[in-house]
Parts: sequence; C-alpha cells; structure tokens
Amino acid sequence: MGKVNTVLGPIATEALGITAMHEHIGFGLPGCELDTQWWKRPEEMFDVTMKKLRRFREHGGKTFVDCTGIGTGRDIEYFQVLSKRTGVNIVAVTGFVAGDSALAYFHEKSIEYLTELFVHEITVGIDGTSAKAGAVKVGVSRVGISELDERIYRAAARAAAMTGVPIITHLSTNAERQIELFEMEGLSIDRVVLGHVDIGPDVNTDRDTMIASRGGYVGFDTIGYDTELEDAPYWSRPRKERVNHFLSFLEKGFLERAVISADANCCALGWPGVKGHSVNYLFEEFIPDLKKEGVSEDIIEQLLVKNPANILTMKKPLPVQNKTFQSI
Ligand SMILES: [Zn+2]
Repeated sequence: MGKVNTVLGPIATEALGITAMHEHIGFGLPGCELDTQWWKRPEEMFDVTMKKLRRFREHGGKTFVDCTGIGTGRDIEYFQVLSKRTGVNIVAVTGFVAGDSALAYFHEKSIEYLTELFVHEITVGIDGTSAKAGAVKVGVSRVGISELDERIYRAAARAAAMTGVPIITHLSTNAERQIELFEMEGLSIDRVVLGHVDIGPDVNTDRDTMIASRGGYVGFDTIGYDTELEDAPYWSRPRKERVNHFLSFLEKGFLERAVISADANCCALGWPGVKGHSVNYLFEEFIPDLKKEGVSEDIIEQLLVKNPANILTMKKPLPVQNKTFQSI
C-alpha cells in the first residue's frame, strides 16, 4: 500500500481524499515579520487560518499541500497544531519557492549539500521534528532560470529519485530546460507537477501539451486570481478565460495529467495577500463553473482525488537513514 508523508506522520494513499495540491498556510519573504503594517499577531493569523481550513474541511477537503518550503513561512509545529485541530492532513515540502526567495545562507551551497538537506527533510524530519516532507518544491526566479535555480533543480531531482517523493514547481517558464534538468539527474517527469501554467503572463498551450505528452503533470494551480477581484495581482486573468484554457486542456485527452489548486494563502505573512481569494475558491467558484460547462462528477474526482494520489504516493520504500544532517 502506498504512503504519503504528512506533518503528523505518514498516511496511506487512500486517506488523502480531496486534495489541494498547491497551497500556502502563509508565505512571506525572509524579514516579513518586520513589516509593521501587514504582519499579524499570532492569534490573528491562527484565527483566520483555522476558519479557512475548517471551511475547506466542510467542502469535503481532506489534504492540503503546503508548497511554502524552507525559510518563507514553513512552520512545522504550527502546521501540526492546525492539522490536529481541523482534521485536515497537511503535507509540508522541502525545497524553495525559487532561488531568488531562498535565504542567502543557501545561495552558495553545492548540489551535494542541497541534495543531502532535501533527503534529510524527507527521510529524517524537518526543523528537528520527526515530521517528514512529502514533496520537493523548486521554482524559476523572476529573471528566469538562474544558476542557483539550476543547482536547486538538480538537487531536488536527485532527492526525489532517491526517496520517491514528487517535485512541484513554481512556474512552467522555460519548461524544456526544467525537464532537461530533471532528466539529466535521472528523474522521470511523471514525478513532477509543472505548476502555474494558468497564470496570466505565461499562458502557452503548446507548452502545456508538450509537458503532458511527455508524461508530466500540468498544474492549473493559481485558480481564483481573477482580474475581476478588486485587488487583482499582476498574474491574474479573466475568470472565463482560465476556465476555457482548462477545458481545452481536458478536451485534448489530458485529464490524467491535470492538477488543480488555488495557490492561496490562508494568511499572508507581512504582505496584504489577495482579498477574497482562498483555497475554498476551488469549491465555491471553479468547480461550479466547470459543472456549468458539463464537467461530470467523475472528472472532478479524478482531478481532486485520483491525480493527487498518483502524484503524492511515494514510489518506493524509504531508505534506512540514521545520519544526522551536517553542513558540508
Ligand atoms: Zn505557491
């Protein structure tokens, strides 16, 4: 039987249920806690976050993949409390959103160092806890794939290949190079979600087809960042346009390669976040939009339950790991 690491320990694949594949309890760049305007008191953060996770649970949501990674808001003990209190499984990730948001401490680290760090977090635990990472996060910096991004990608591919967890990417920009890096390191791209194909500034349907045809997962995972929002960020796009983009992807026969999520913050850290946008947009707006277009319950189940289970299930048993992680 397959297993997936959550912050409260490994669970059976069958226990995942409805899964949001790319979300954030709270993302903020290092130093964000110094923002006197937007940094919230812990009680306030907890309150807002609990409400959203409880609502997620009411909608039938069972598993929340937090794609925050190292140093930008990932807080394992906090995630454990949230999970216990709401009954939502939380999967934490190792890795970084992208090189340009990784802490300076990691900028000069070697591929070997980063690999060992990721493997440690997947097989031993995160931040001195026994909670293990269930996926590796990597991403493309704003300037494009940087030399540091490449080191992180190679290390992530090695760690994923060694441990069997998947990779989730921030952005599908230059997907050819991303795939090349994974394959050079021996990782098949059927273990990768190339994410954010649906953001406004980077729509490329030929690229989506290329990723899916080669066996990768295609992440329509910024759902709800609509230009109709009053504080729509630059990566937003018209709601109807995203729905059509997604439907045309399904019509090409790629249902089994599609992932949907909202990339929302339960409570943004040190920045205002985007008002009215949460993981629950999936259930309250997007799925109803799909149903209006004739999408069946079976297809919704494939998107929210079966595809996430296929991706998140670790592909082989974890190696025995007694080592403690040490700086190289
Ligand atoms: Zn994200």
